[in-house]
Amino acid sequence: MTMAEPVDRSLVVALDRAHVWPPYTPHERHEREDPIVVVKAQGSWLEDADGRRYFDAFSSWWAVTLGHCHPRLVARLRAQSESLCHVSTGGATHPELALLARDLINVAPPGLARVHFSDDGSTAVEAAIKIAFQYWQQNGYPSRRRFVALGGAYHGETVGAMSLASVEEFTHVFGPLLFKVYRPPHPHEEGGWERVLEHLERFMRSHKDEIAGLIVEPLIQGASGMRMHSPKVLKALHEICSEIDTFFIADEVFTGYGRTGTMWACGQAGITPDILCVAKGFTAGVLPMAATLVTARIYEGFSGGMERALLHGHTFCGHALGAVVAREVLAIYREEGVLEGIPERAVRIARWAERMALLPRVRGHRALGMVGAIDLGELGYGGSGIGWEVARAARKRGIFLRPLGDTVYVAPRLNVPLDELDWLLEALEDAVREVLDS
Ligand SMILES: *Cc1c(COP(=O)(O)O)cnc(C)c1O
Repeated sequence: MTMAEPVDRSLVVALDRAHVWPPYTPHERHEREDPIVVVKAQGSWLEDADGRRYFDAFSSWWAVTLGHCHPRLVARLRAQSESLCHVSTGGATHPELALLARDLINVAPPGLARVHFSDDGSTAVEAAIKIAFQYWQQNGYPSRRRFVALGGAYHGETVGAMSLASVEEFTHVFGPLLFKVYRPPHPHEEGGWERVLEHLERFMRSHKDEIAGLIVEPLIQGASGMRMHSPKVLKALHEICSEIDTFFIADEVFTGYGRTGTMWACGQAGITPDILCVAKGFTAGVLPMAATLVTARIYEGFSGGMERALLHGHTFCGHALGAVVAREVLAIYREEGVLEGIPERAVRIARWAERMALLPRVRGHRALGMVGAIDLGELGYGGSGIGWEVARAARKRGIFLRPLGDTVYVAPRLNVPLDELDWLLEALEDAVREVLDS
């Protein structure tokens, strides 16, 4: 074993500033702000090179659902790495992959029958787009080439996934590069979801020969500000697809694996999507790995020779280390009562949001499952910078969070101990009060 070298914090920061290009970070912030230099993470906590601890309040971009370095995941990863790390799954397979596919289908919404593995949320969505598109091309409906996506949607970073998204701040530069998507009015405009549903119904009925599928983030649109809708709305969106017999694609990259309080957000509306995208919590943040699940009908639409086979696949499809971890994640859900523990945590988060709503400058609040959010300004990424002010005040108190514009939220690990959760919510309340009082 190599011993960890003692970390020279200032050297790390200097090298990072000199050579690393971080995601979604203005250069002026990268050059000026002092990053947390994480040398270790355990459970809810990150540890900086200077020995300070920070509560990971957003589960490191929503992925670390079971806490950092869960001992069971670390042990399985270590054991697997001694026998098989990676093998191409075109023409070969491996035991953990086959077992994982079975285990995943066992917990998936009933009716999903096949799993295509990939690397991250964006690739899970890209696969979904190509599957839906190719299906109609070769199953007697080649005019079905357009996708429908919602206002406030976020589906990932690659060009296809970005085409479906509507977070203008992220995508406007790339406009000319993106494919055209039908998008009903934004749910946060006047008329709300009722108007969205009305438009969708009208549009999808009159263009039923053109629509390859509707993609939805069920119950919570995460990246655009933790915007929530009811199971009733979700069910209605699904019904419109059923009516014209096109695909309902659920992007549960964020909402899946218990984030909304149930294994799948779709479960709360009692629906099974035709295509389901899974990532983030899939390996509980241990390795990048994702899955796109489909119904038997879709899979059968590709049966035959090479001329009908799915034309999609990545180098690391079904990665062995990812597979063993993903499988152990499901075992932990079964054996450690992860979902069963959510209600008592969700109640605390909801109460926090309600308490915060009483503060004079808090404009909105909402909570569902293991997510609680407050708006300190307009929804969206422009904002006044107050979200980042709260992030800085929180950091002084030992909390790591990242606002969505002026929306501040918590999305802690699903199995966070109650006393740690209480600590987080109180410390964050303090931080918000400090900023609002100043
Ligand atoms: C994060 C996210 C994605 C993209 O996942 P990556 O792993 O970042 O590529 C797609 N859809 C939703 C709903 C997400 O939250």
